[in-house]
Amino acid sequence: MSRLAGNRFRCNVCGKTFNHFRKKKAQSHIHYLCPRCHSDESLRSLWFFLSNEIIGKRNKKIFLVFGNNKLLVKKLKSQGITPEIVDIGYIDSSASQKQNSLPGNIYDVIILPHVLQFITDDQLVYIELKRLLRPGGIAIIQTVTNPEMDRTYENIKTTEDIDRLKDHYEPGYLRIYGANFSKHLTKAGFDVEVVDYAEQLGLHAREYYQVGRSERELIYVCKKNINKETWKS
Ligand SMILES: [Zn+2]
Repeated sequence: MSRLAGNRFRCNVCGKTFNHFRKKKAQSHIHYLCPRCHSDESLRSLWFFLSNEIIGKRNKKIFLVFGNNKLLVKKLKSQGITPEIVDIGYIDSSASQKQNSLPGNIYDVIILPHVLQFITDDQLVYIELKRLLRPGGIAIIQTVTNPEMDRTYENIKTTEDIDRLKDHYEPGYLRIYGANFSKHLTKAGFDVEVVDYAEQLGLHAREYYQVGRSERELIYVCKKNINKETWKS
């Protein structure tokens, strides 16, 4: 029998149990991956939130997912949701001609699972999200923040940058947000709620499902305010 076999932990994405999650080191941060479906703490936390709070709820039928997250898309499909999917290039300034190719004012839910840190111009993302969402629709964002920094750390390039960011950094990141990330989203025009769903699940579930203990698992729910009249369709 594999040393992984057992009932100590459970993955809420694939539903399997085992005795260990697999450790994966990225710079100095360690991710705990499901040995079966390879979900990480962020995705398990996100999936709890989506399956408990979003999927099946009124006016939450039309989904869009940013980035190539096959596991998330597979799970959504298993729940009868076929999301529209766009890659990061859809929004990036180098590919801005692709913008506006999706219809505006129709999406109930847009999910950005750890993609913002890879996009060159995040302001373009916010503009496009507000165009795509229907009034009252929500964007669900996970990204990396460093609560010890007041502001966003942009243009990560040098080894000095990387040393300074310590375990928040992973290869490919273009920026890491500071403690003011939710204010940043509010300023971009959203009504923002920061959800620590792993915390809400309680200690036992947090341990059993390994849904994380860091700011990486935080979920920023950004609502397109129905009362603002400045949205363009
Ligand atoms: Zn799994």
